[in-house]
Amino acid sequence: MTEYHGKSVCGGIAVGKIHLMVKREQNIVRYEAKDCDSEICRFETARKEARKQLALLYEKAAKEVGEENAAIFEIHQMMLEDDDYLDSVKRIVLEQKVNVEYAIGAASAHFAEMFSSMEDVYMRERAADVMDISDRMIRILTNADSEKIQLHEPVIILADDLAPSETVQLDKSLVRSFVTVHGSVNSHTAILARTMNIPALIGVDMELAQELEGRMAVVDGFGGALYVDPDEELLAQMRVRETEALGKERLLQELKGKENRTKDGREILVHANIGSVKDLDEVLKNDAGGIGLFRSEFIFLESSTYPTEEEQFRIYKKTAETMAGKRVIIRTLDIGADKQAAYFRLDKEENPAMGLRAIRICLTRPELFKTQLRAIYRASNYGKIAVMYPMITSLEEVRRIREISAEVRGELEEEGIPFHLIEEGIMIETPAAAMISDILAKEVDFFSIGTNDLSQYTMAMDRQNPHLEAFFNPCHEAVLRMIEMVCRNAHAENIWVGICGELGADLSLTRRFLRMGVDELSVSPACVLPLRDKIRSLDLR
Ligand code: PEP
Ligand code: MG
Repeated sequence: MTEYHGKSVCGGIAVGKIHLMVKREQNIVRYEAKDCDSEICRFETARKEARKQLALLYEKAAKEVGEENAAIFEIHQMMLEDDDYLDSVKRIVLEQKVNVEYAIGAASAHFAEMFSSMEDVYMRERAADVMDISDRMIRILTNADSEKIQLHEPVIILADDLAPSETVQLDKSLVRSFVTVHGSVNSHTAILARTMNIPALIGVDMELAQELEGRMAVVDGFGGALYVDPDEELLAQMRVRETEALGKERLLQELKGKENRTKDGREILVHANIGSVKDLDEVLKNDAGGIGLFRSEFIFLESSTYPTEEEQFRIYKKTAETMAGKRVIIRTLDIGADKQAAYFRLDKEENPAMGLRAIRICLTRPELFKTQLRAIYRASNYGKIAVMYPMITSLEEVRRIREISAEVRGELEEEGIPFHLIEEGIMIETPAAAMISDILAKEVDFFSIGTNDLSQYTMAMDRQNPHLEAFFNPCHEAVLRMIEMVCRNAHAENIWVGICGELGADLSLTRRFLRMGVDELSVSPACVLPLRDKIRSLDLR
């Protein structure tokens, strides 16, 4: 038995086989072609398939984000018709008698280099496009797309680090635990593990050797340990711990249906955070009073292209119906930073957390924003929906957003599509928004404080960087004072204020949050009942 240690980001015990998720570079193998003509035929077939994929992408993107933003897929299609490029690939196959994957890679590298050395900025940018079409064709030829992670049995995922775009591909019903060598407490993998209520460890210092694949392991989310090839004694110990934890959980279940009221009568809403309709079971099981944060970007991350209005509408409608009249707050998409979807084609940024993300993308691509707002408003007929906007920094942004949402309502009205007027709120997750919350409070129906981002921007510490943990203080007084100020400013304008960042679940702060007058706490589903327990034990007098 081998033991490794890390930091636990969610408790619990998991037993299962290890599944390694190691990033693979696209490795192009060069080999001698037995039959050059059949290599050229393979090239033509891949080119045809690539054209088909690009035409579909163009069509979908044009509908969702406008023709201007979709034009890139047209450029890619044109490149696939470029005689110089095609001749170059074929020549390499015929002259060097090699496989077509190698020829595509070599010809594309040559063209990309040629574009990068050009004076004209537009032409220089085409270098990335050549590599993109080259990747697409090689993926088609090597069937790499069908290699999407397929799980066949419950596993413990072991990885260096996991991007949200990777975790969304997994069949979550088969994931028993996440263990990563890197990662941080506030990373989205950690948030996902807490939402799923499965044990997870980060910062586990170990070699991800291929021989670990399929080995039995135990993750102890209470003690922060991973055991590979556990012995009988350890398994017995873990079973005892699991039974104890289940006992505690059963006690908490008795709180279902009870009020979130302190001994002296102060009541607070306790809602749940979700990233998918699949999380709704946990929400109901834990008796949350509503959804305080639906991270809608996960719908975009799960998709290989822009989800249509209809697709989004069905998801929001199902959520509203399942919550049966309880409030569901849908946050408009917060793509960018660590949450990347390739089809958005966002530029590589030096500082992505401070870059083009969330509402900034929506305001620069209004078609995309309007599609989402239409879906949200249409779903408002099926339950109590509210909408909130992430990463706000200014009054101008809020005013522009309200204009766009009014336009959407106007268009729906003209088309005779029914909808309800819903609450429109904003996230307070930048120091800028906190500092002008007195002004912003006059413009919106509610505030929801995103402490994950508010902390990273206030302390100037990347929430994803594991090396900052020694410096990172999640309960920093600066953040707490901002929360207090935001509560005061919200109440002065008679709007309600909640916390939907991870800090909302920190039971050592519940008393303080209640004293500040926080009206709602939105936490991972599994944290709802422990929080209720805590609230009921408090006396604020
Ligand atoms: C936050 O920043 O606190 C928040 C709730 O949003 P996210 O974690 O999705 O960035
Ligand atoms: Mg945030």
